[in-house]
Amino acid sequence: MSKAKMALYLGLMAGGILASCSSENEQVNDSNTDNQAVEHPWTKTVPQKVVDAAAKLELNVNHLRYDTFYFPDGTSEDRLYVEEDIAMTEQEILTLAASKKEDKTRQYSTNNLVSQGRNISIIGYTGGGGYGLSSKEREGLQWAVNNYNRLGLSIRFTLTFGTNYNSKDMVVYHNPNNGGSGGQAGFPSGGRPYKWIQIYGLQNYSTNVNEHVITHEIGHAIGFRHTDWFSRQSCGQNSNEGSAGVGANHIAGTPTGYDATSIMVACFSTSADGEFNSNDVNALERLY
Ligand SMILES: [Zn+2]
Repeated sequence: MSKAKMALYLGLMAGGILASCSSENEQVNDSNTDNQAVEHPWTKTVPQKVVDAAAKLELNVNHLRYDTFYFPDGTSEDRLYVEEDIAMTEQEILTLAASKKEDKTRQYSTNNLVSQGRNISIIGYTGGGGYGLSSKEREGLQWAVNNYNRLGLSIRFTLTFGTNYNSKDMVVYHNPNNGGSGGQAGFPSGGRPYKWIQIYGLQNYSTNVNEHVITHEIGHAIGFRHTDWFSRQSCGQNSNEGSAGVGANHIAGTPTGYDATSIMVACFSTSADGEFNSNDVNALERLY
């Protein structure tokens, strides 16, 4: 399969749109690294201690880079991106690595999860400046929240729409600065979910695709990893660098190999139905 595809889950402004080849479905690629240097004149080297800390966390260090992170008010700051669509600060990576327990309780999850029983307030941003969600994106968000709430997990989401996001646990917004298609989030910390979930370039896709991407990013924000983090097979890539230093632990009852219909695969299909598969549900019920 050629590495061409469309769009991405990642924060690259360099969102080259290319044709899918052998797959029957178009897929959405995470990266177009060829253009990255052109789009980002600044190339900041990731310090080795941060790379080492990321490896300790079993993050795929082949996809570790700096990019601009935009907040819904239009301000921005540099953050590290891991596995393309996950934003972290250097300090978060270092702190998480320092506190990592050598347990084996996770497969798709980070060590830090959202506190059991937490009611998560989530707001769909409706403000201006290009950061507000379209009606389709709002509907996708509603469906994504329904995906989680209908499972009866110990965590529940309370969704509102508006602009007053400061007091909310999570805010879902549009990033008009990203030329690709997909979303970004981060991992939980301190028992709280990651707050910022941005999506971009999904207007021409179905509501189901919007639902899929938002459900996926919420998955990261409550601690889920990419199910194909080891290979990025869903992106038509084979970036499996072996398990050295970046092995994967496993949640009982879920597959160890590639699970094409998992909502947590790294790249999405434009025919995605937006729904969890049974393994996703098992993993969620295991964690929450
Ligand atoms: Zn992702």
